[in-house]
Amino acid sequence: MADCLFCNIAAGKVPSNKLYEDDQLLAFYDLNPQAPVHFLVIPKKHIDSAAVLTEEDAPLLGHVFATIAKLCKELGCDGGYRVVTNVGEDGGQSVKHLHFHVLAKRSLAWPPG
Ligand code: 5GP
Ligand code: ZN
Repeated sequence: MADCLFCNIAAGKVPSNKLYEDDQLLAFYDLNPQAPVHFLVIPKKHIDSAAVLTEEDAPLLGHVFATIAKLCKELGCDGGYRVVTNVGEDGGQSVKHLHFHVLAKRSLAWPPG
C-alpha cells in the first residue's frame, strides 16, 4: 500500500534501523523504544492487523515467532521478552500494518495500562 508507513519501510523507501530481513519479514528497531531492546517484526505484505488474520496465515505467523526466538537468542535476551501486537483503537494500534513489538532487557510490568 503506497501510503502505508510500514509498507514503505519494508520496501526500503523509508529508512529504518534494520535487524533482520528475509523474503517474508523485516525486523527493525522501534523509533521510540520502550525497553533497552525494542524492535518490530512486520510481514512484508500488507496486512491491516491481527484482526484480519486467517488460518492461511499460520505459516507466516510460525515464521514470525521462530524469527523472534532466533533474534532474541542472538541479542542475549536471556531473561525473557514480551511480544505484543496492538489491534485497533482500543488496542493502541497507531500504524495500520500488522507488527509485533518485541521488548526485552528490563522487567516488564503486568497488566499493561
Ligand atoms: P503501535 O502503536 O501501532 O502498536 O506501534 C507502532 C510503533 O511504530 C510505535 O512503537 C512507534 O514508535 C513505531 N514507529 C512509528 N513510526 C516509526 C518509524 O518511522 N520508524 C520506526 N523504526 N518506528 C516507528
Ligand atoms: Zn502496509
